[in-house]
Amino acid sequence: MIELLPKLEEIYAQMELEARRYQESESLLCPPMCGLCCESHEVQACVFEMMPAAIYLIQKHLDEKYYTLLESKPEVCIFYDAARQAEGCCSLYTKRAAICRLFGVSRVKDKYGNPRLSICKKIKEIYPERLGNILLSSDKILLAPAMEFWHRLVLNLAPPEYAILMPINQALKEALQICCWEFPFSDPNGPDLPKAA
Ligand code: SF4
Ligand code: SF4
Repeated sequence: MIELLPKLEEIYAQMELEARRYQESESLLCPPMCGLCCESHEVQACVFEMMPAAIYLIQKHLDEKYYTLLESKPEVCIFYDAARQAEGCCSLYTKRAAICRLFGVSRVKDKYGNPRLSICKKIKEIYPERLGNILLSSDKILLAPAMEFWHRLVLNLAPPEYAILMPINQALKEALQICCWEFPFSDPNGPDLPKAA
């Protein structure tokens, strides 16, 4: 499975670029130091999505520290750090899950299958006029990154047993267990690892 991770990181990079370009072009950028979306108790990811983060922690010898923290069952994502004044208060920004890259603005389908925008509470609050203009333009809605498309790309790449959505901390915990048990990272003859940022 480790051989799939460079492809996952490639998808993450493309997804992020598309999301950022859209937010920039529509002037809907996240305000500095905002991490409101990460305070939700409902952020979900699958184990596969959290493997780049798990491998990073193992490479940096932080796996035991984070595993112990996860055992205390924190209510919000373990990487959320409200005091961090950058990168959405995420202490492992480059390795964050798919949903984290699309929190701000993305395109989803309504119950009739029509495209609509999913917009975070903070962006709705600070850009009501800009959003009003976008919502009047179906072309602009269609340009937004498609949540389902990107998520499906990630989930389709994942081995099915690791593609089940669950609370993000649980997904990280399982990813750490799997990566520690299955891959002999301390073994110089072990597999090549995706490069840590
Ligand atoms: S991984 Fe980072 S961006 Fe995602 S929920 Fe956790 S703190 Fe937020
Ligand atoms: S997506 Fe929304 S809540 Fe999250 S950092 Fe951006 S503006 Fe804040």
